[in-house]
Amino acid sequence: MSDKTGISWSDATWNPIIGCTKVSPGCDHCYPIPLSRIREKNPNPKVAAAFAGVVEQTESGLDWTGRVNLLPERLDQPLRWRKPRRVFVNSLADLFHEAVPDQFIAKVFAVMALAPQHSFQVLSKRHARMRSLLANPEFPHAVARAMDAVQVDLEHDPAELWKPIPGLEGYEASSHGRVRGETGLLATCINPRSGRETVTLWNRGEPKTLTVHRLVLTAHSADDQPGAEVCHRNGDKRDNRLANLRWGTRSENQREKVRHGSRGGPQKLTPAEVEEIRAARRTGLTQQALADRFGISRSLVSLIESGRVWSGPDIPWPLPNVWIGVSCENQQWADIRIPALLETPAAVRWISAEPLLGPIILRDDWLGADPYRRDEPSLNWVVAGGESGPGARPMHPKWVKDLRDQCQQAGVAYHFKQWGEWRPQPRYSTDDRHHLVMLNGMDRGTPWPGWGLDQPEAEVMERVGKKRAGRELDGRTWDEFPQEVAVHG
Ligand code: SF4
Repeated sequence: MSDKTGISWSDATWNPIIGCTKVSPGCDHCYPIPLSRIREKNPNPKVAAAFAGVVEQTESGLDWTGRVNLLPERLDQPLRWRKPRRVFVNSLADLFHEAVPDQFIAKVFAVMALAPQHSFQVLSKRHARMRSLLANPEFPHAVARAMDAVQVDLEHDPAELWKPIPGLEGYEASSHGRVRGETGLLATCINPRSGRETVTLWNRGEPKTLTVHRLVLTAHSADDQPGAEVCHRNGDKRDNRLANLRWGTRSENQREKVRHGSRGGPQKLTPAEVEEIRAARRTGLTQQALADRFGISRSLVSLIESGRVWSGPDIPWPLPNVWIGVSCENQQWADIRIPALLETPAAVRWISAEPLLGPIILRDDWLGADPYRRDEPSLNWVVAGGESGPGARPMHPKWVKDLRDQCQQAGVAYHFKQWGEWRPQPRYSTDDRHHLVMLNGMDRGTPWPGWGLDQPEAEVMERVGKKRAGRELDGRTWDEFPQEVAVHG
């Protein structure tokens, strides 16, 4: 399926998830719903399976079922695109939908971290989950772990290769993490204490229980240094595929565990507790008080404070090439979603006011124009547009012009995507393709003689279709992008 898009603010779409549930009036005419009905009947079985079961006919029309299909086979798509692109993430779903597991979201972020040549445009109406997940100090560790897992999966060769195990005559280990003897494949078991996979071999008439990971690496890699440990790159100790294993020192192994958030220092703490300790120290709480509260030594509090343990997952966070945005169709949802967006860690923050269903006043502090709150996070980009498709609601021209003017004044990039199905029509007409739209969003239907343009808040809009309506506002297009991260080269 093509990844190209006609969306004026994006170069490509990437859909590792299909399916959603409506949450607010902007979802009323959600275009992926009819599209999913068409695609589930696609002759290509892979396409049909991706869209299977996500929509159903209800009494009020076609709607989502609430099922969300995760498509891990699409995760690596952006890694194969060499040319830098602006990539719209999940144009047919909401990444932060409640049915999408945290681990899958971490994988999507891992791919974005592994493809710094692209700028990824994430857009959500689930502002609360987006904020809590991206602000959780454990999440960057999950992303780092997922990055290693994605790389291991890419390097894993589906062709299984067997090699003899040095010093253990008659035995072989495979690149898929299996061991066999002269009589065939050997059964393995999990050591309950270490959680590692073991196998029992016979050597010089004696049974010997050995770890599978060491046998695999010994057979396939001659780099075994005395005292070297086996590192599981993706953090899964039971994943003994050759691509997941490498020799390393104890401190390298320890660093990997810190990166994955599975171990931060000599004592077990969660990343959230470590953040709490650092924040409490900044407020002046004593090291001893914190040591008592968390049941750890005072010297460990000191190490945490200095960053010598729990130093983070060594990935830039927030990811510099990921733009995080929320949809705002009217003032009510702008008031709810924008403050949540501003509390979300992000390199670039943006809103999509499309379909715009009412006027939106952007507060000075949201636009970075409040002189007393200049250091606080603010919006970097505003996209606006009218609705298209069957049942599209007309947009009052003043709404998009006001948004543009607010952005211009504050120096925030503004992008006018489209008029949608309706365009302004200065001439008065009683044709039923013309509707009077009030400034408050009320659609008064077809104008009638003696009532219309004399109403100061009324605008005649004509239904001409998205293509004819175009995307010019006051005689020109508005195609601005957030400057600081124009596509990475
Ligand atoms: S959040 Fe987006 S994909 Fe989901 S129902 Fe609403 S418009 Fe459709």
